[in-house]
Amino acid sequence: MTTYDAVVLGAGIVGVATAIQLRKRGLSVALVDRRGPGEETSHGNAGLIQREGVHPYVFPRDPRTIIGVALKRRTDADYHLSSLPSVAPFLMRYFAASTPERARKTFEANIPLFARCLEAHEALMMEAGSQDLVRKTGWIKLFRKQASAEEADVQARELREIGLAASMLDNEALNALEPDIDTSRLAGGLHYGDPWCCSNPGALVKSYAALYEKLGGETVTAEIAGVQRRDGQWAVTTNGPDIAGEQLVVTLGPWSKRLLDAVGVTLPMGVKRGYHRHYKPEGEAKLNRPVLDGDVGYVMAPMARGVRLTSGAEFARQDAPATPRQLQRVLPKAREVFPLGESVDERAWLGARPVLPDMLPVIGAAPKNPGLWLHFGHAHHGFTLGPATAELVSQLITGETPYCDPAPYSPQRFTRAR
Ligand SMILES: Cc1cc2nc3c(=O)[nH]c(=O)nc-3n(C[C@H](O)[C@H](O)[C@H](O)COP(=O)(O)OP(=O)(O)OC[C@H]3O[C@@H](n4cnc5c(N)ncnc54)[C@H](O)[C@@H]3O)c2cc1C
Repeated sequence: MTTYDAVVLGAGIVGVATAIQLRKRGLSVALVDRRGPGEETSHGNAGLIQREGVHPYVFPRDPRTIIGVALKRRTDADYHLSSLPSVAPFLMRYFAASTPERARKTFEANIPLFARCLEAHEALMMEAGSQDLVRKTGWIKLFRKQASAEEADVQARELREIGLAASMLDNEALNALEPDIDTSRLAGGLHYGDPWCCSNPGALVKSYAALYEKLGGETVTAEIAGVQRRDGQWAVTTNGPDIAGEQLVVTLGPWSKRLLDAVGVTLPMGVKRGYHRHYKPEGEAKLNRPVLDGDVGYVMAPMARGVRLTSGAEFARQDAPATPRQLQRVLPKAREVFPLGESVDERAWLGARPVLPDMLPVIGAAPKNPGLWLHFGHAHHGFTLGPATAELVSQLITGETPYCDPAPYSPQRFTRAR
């Protein structure tokens, strides 16, 4: 059995970036995944590197919205009735963590991580030579209701207070940035100027994985069957080679809970499933940057393959059958705003955002399990934050001074070892 200083489980954006940071600190590293790097959640997202994403997506607390979701009248959230018994405990904790006071704490804890996201990505893409996959155009939130624009104005002011570019747009200003958007049903937009947009998120992760190998990191393509603490190290059983690490880092995204449950580390993690599908724009129509239709709940993001239409959240067991109803329901709404033509995909892609109730990732040592490190749960912002939180977890693993206080992300806030 080959032993490494560190074994990183899962090669999404979070695992690849972690493996790079550990390699850069001189550790021998194996990165294990059953698929190629960046082929799951880190491939299917909307490609936004959301420098502005500090406000958490809270569970709605007003009865009208909750009833709307419960009656399946809304397009931004859906659920499987048959999955409710298994997802209800997570939903209750998510609801409890969504009070204004607790959301404020999450907002504050997010600030140092999001402040690092652009420079952490930039360092990797410069070294990997993949800057061409990213445009520095920002993105736009669209409003159909005046009340939504007014609500967003409050958040925009908060963002400007922390030095971010957030400009309210009337329909004329919106059309100056996006001439092919039909503003007849819109009440303006909000342009977030700082974020970057990726035209192929999976390809960006693959470019980072190539950098990792160039730095001397090893990749193991195999299904992970389980892990066990044995003789002072972590043994990883796979359907390929069995390997071991002094340190074991779990970066399995939405699959992390399953592995940890088996070693007795229990976390209240849930998933928010999401779909995407690509469409050809009609004629010469062009979208210059991603737009989110805030009052309907979808994103249209210009990508290498076409315009990627992504859905909001679906609450269901991670492995429940795909039901891309939300995409079907938002498609006509999206076509009101931008001329989407035929789909270029045979079917919708389905993925799952890994989510903790307080909407913060888990970053740090697992209690009572020496050498076991947890790094997942980035929810709506894993593509944004992976490189930044990889720096933090690597600093913790190698005993360096972390660039920010890691306490808000510690697994200790939830975990109990059996
Ligand atoms: C529709 C949608 C839109 C999104 N839009 C954005 C966005 O615009 N910006 C943003 O920042 N974030 C976005 N996100 C969230 C973001 O995509 C995720 O937070 C992020 O990709 C999670 O990365 P990860 O590395 O933790 O997980 P993953 O990318 O899922 O990686 C986990 C890896 O573990 C591997 N694995 C699992 N089990 C095993 C096993 N038993 N053996 C071997 N390998 C295994 C998988 O193959 C996978 O490669 C979006 C998500 C969705 C669903």
